[in-house]
Amino acid sequence: MSDKEKKLESGGKEITRRQALKYMGAGVVGLGLAGSLLSSCAKRQQKISPEELTTATLEEDTVAAMSYRTDNVYGEKISLLGFGTMRYPTVNGKIDEEKSQELVDYAYQHGVNYFDTAYLYHNGDSELFTGKALKKYPRESFYLATKMPTWLVTDLASAKHLFEDQLRKCQVEYFDYYLLHSLRQISEYKKCYVDNGALEYLKAEKAAGRIKRLGFSFHGDLEGFEYLLNCGEQWDFVQIQMNYLDWYGPLQSDRLYAMLEEKGIQCIIMEPLRGGRLAKVNPVAADLLKKARPGDTPAEWAFRFVASYPNVLTILSGMTEMQYLQENINTLSENFKPLDEKEHKVVEAVANAINSYNLVPCTECDYCDPCPYGVDISGVFRHYNRCVNEGIIPDKMSQSQSEFRRKRREYLISYDKEVAKEAQANHCIGCGSCMQVCPQRFDIVANLRRIDKFVDSLKFHNTQNV
Ligand code: SF4
Ligand code: SF4
Repeated sequence: MSDKEKKLESGGKEITRRQALKYMGAGVVGLGLAGSLLSSCAKRQQKISPEELTTATLEEDTVAAMSYRTDNVYGEKISLLGFGTMRYPTVNGKIDEEKSQELVDYAYQHGVNYFDTAYLYHNGDSELFTGKALKKYPRESFYLATKMPTWLVTDLASAKHLFEDQLRKCQVEYFDYYLLHSLRQISEYKKCYVDNGALEYLKAEKAAGRIKRLGFSFHGDLEGFEYLLNCGEQWDFVQIQMNYLDWYGPLQSDRLYAMLEEKGIQCIIMEPLRGGRLAKVNPVAADLLKKARPGDTPAEWAFRFVASYPNVLTILSGMTEMQYLQENINTLSENFKPLDEKEHKVVEAVANAINSYNLVPCTECDYCDPCPYGVDISGVFRHYNRCVNEGIIPDKMSQSQSEFRRKRREYLISYDKEVAKEAQANHCIGCGSCMQVCPQRFDIVANLRRIDKFVDSLKFHNTQNV
């Protein structure tokens, strides 16, 4: 049997790639095949460099077969790479449906069978589009996850209404994985789910078969996590943020993972790249990775780190470009090798090298959007973090005058270019509403003020002819 005809397993049913193509319609296999350089690299079985990957997609034959892990409650095979739909490509602020459909089709054709959406992603459009995009495939051939938007649950009636609405939007009769979205505090959990009977309602839906597995995604502290795992509820799975920055950093995802493993609850992983930050690391970190495995991209390292833990069921990634999807399929393919001890040490050193920089822990999820005062919160942080990562932060104390001037100019010009003037950090009035929804639980206002002060100091230097 040729590689292309290898069976894709899903839902206890098996379909071949040929059958999958039939459902998909034409066109996907021929997608984005790259130019002569890539062809010759593929023929010579060479690895594509990270630089090349940013501009080109891979030849079909270089994309390997997906690997699967078994859901330990239901015994079903789930692809190690899960398709996260929070970051569909967009055009004019809306989902770019053509490009997104190509990505969904390609993922499905290459064995990805777990698709994760949520009520609030893309301002409500993600569920609608995901339902539409998957409609052409047999319902039993993929696993669909969505989430009850915790902060919209005001009473039992609202929970019922939201759940029905989600089924309608996704055009399905049941959800395979259903999550209480972004639990952060015990009081919030009790108020939104326990006291009003919403959790009992969801459990009844599970008994009725409209939810197959019930779990939650988590963004709170260890105390809250411990409470949720020991409150007497039977969680089928839990979704946590896990990546090597958080593992070796203050978020302690190592502790969350250990607690789940001890309880025998499998975890689904979000933010393996920490909002994209681990796909492009600072020069010091990049150097450490390159020395250890010259051909591997930073993203490969980040995915391999997470996948090395056996209690991980699937790893979600929001992939806006075909080459990222292809790279991730390859990394988590049946050729996947867990990090060895030496590589774990490299990753720890890289995490320390990154964590020692004063980065803003924003993952650009945009849950805080829109700010009532028009601040482009994730845009301000994205620009700042990029400049830190790329070493363009001006520092008068450690740099020569000419270097300082060059970096100062670069920083200020790119800030104005990437963040509209009326959306910059100085427009924050500190109302705090963004902090109530931010899953990363950091002081957004303090960070905006810090950046604004920094920008001001650079402008002040300008007037002093530095
Ligand atoms: S605290 Fe600032 S950034 Fe956050 S919502 Fe209020 S004005 Fe916007
Ligand atoms: S500040 Fe928080 S809510 Fe806003 S984009 Fe960043 S991580 Fe998301």
